[in-house]
This record gives sequence, C-alpha cells and structure tokens, in this order.
Amino acid sequence: MPQRLGASCDDDDIRPSADLAPAKVDIPKIEKAVREILIAIGEDPDREGLLKTPNRVARAYGELMAGLADEPKRHLKTVFTETYDEVVLLRDIEFHSLCEHHLLPFTGRAHVAYLPDGKVVGLSKLARLVEGYARRPQVQERLTTQIADALMEELQPIGAACVIEATHTCMTMRGAKKHGSTMVTSALRGIFKENPSSRSEILTLMYNENPKRAW
Ligand SMILES: [Zn+2]
Repeated sequence: MPQRLGASCDDDDIRPSADLAPAKVDIPKIEKAVREILIAIGEDPDREGLLKTPNRVARAYGELMAGLADEPKRHLKTVFTETYDEVVLLRDIEFHSLCEHHLLPFTGRAHVAYLPDGKVVGLSKLARLVEGYARRPQVQERLTTQIADALMEELQPIGAACVIEATHTCMTMRGAKKHGSTMVTSALRGIFKENPSSRSEILTLMYNENPKRAW
C-alpha cells in the first residue's frame, strides 16, 4: 500500500488503475501479428493451448497501453487552495509499465513529492498520474521526468520530485540476467534541484523511513 505523508487526502480509491479504460487498439491486427510471431518461432498457432493466445495478447495490450489515450495531467486539474507549505509525499506507488525497447514489463514503485505554493491535489491523483504515464511504451528515465514535469506545470509548486525504482524483465529474464537488480532514477525540480538541504530533506523522507530501500 502506498504510504501517505502530508496534506489533503481525498476520498477517492487510491488504487491507480481504478478508472483507466483500456485503449482502443486494433485487435485483429495484433491477433494477426501475434500469430505470425508464433509461426516465426516455430510454434503451431493452431494447437489447442495457443488457439486463443493472439486474442488474449491483443486484449492485454489494450490494458497495457491504456495510458496512450490518456492525458495524465488531467488528474492535476482539480486543485485545492491550501496554505499548507510543507512537503507532500506519496511513497511506494506501485506501477507496471512496458519497456519500449523490448516490449517487456518493468515494474516497481514511484515516490512522488511536491512542495506546494498554494495548489494542492488529492493524493489519489498522484497515483493516477503515475499510472497514466506508465501504461504506454516507456523508458524509466522518461517516466520519471514526465511525472515531475507534470507537477511543475500544473501545480506551479516550489519544488517537485520523483524517484522511481524498478526491475526490468528485459534485463532480468534475458541479456545481462541480473536477477534482483533495481534501477533507480530521479527527477528533482525547483527547490529540490537548487537547494542542497531541500534535496537532502526530500531524499531522506523518501529513504530513511523506508528501511527496506536498497538505495
Ligand atoms: Zn528493455
């Protein structure tokens, strides 16, 4: 479960995928392509176990790509005006994404924070922001910066920060086969980038009370 710290918890369900409708993908085209892949690897797409696979894959892609039809910044349009001027941090937002280089999953947790300058959003909106950017072909670096930049653009906070730790199956299942290795990326904006003590404060909040953190 994501942990909460800071202000303004709205009543929304915090699970991010609650309202992200599947993307309208071209089901027959994906089915045809998956059938071709099965043939190309020497499989028999007409054997019983694989008969429905092209259709299952096509429908799964609709869900995995649901963020493509979404504009995640929309979640930051409903703001509260608050005089709260301390850090708001939502930690351990679980996400699942697809590496755009191999179309293999990478999964992990995002920690998202901002220091408001009058505009505050419900915490579930931060989780939805992550979800919207994760459910599309991605690279972890871009996912991290998109989240921080969206916060800066929509809320004009004093600072925003996003740290993501994720495991990439394109690395753990193939290639370097580094089991258990985690990639960590961070995007710091505003005061968290410019002011060393603010930076260390936010990273400490993300890290110190999270004894399981490896980084
Ligand atoms: Zn990859």
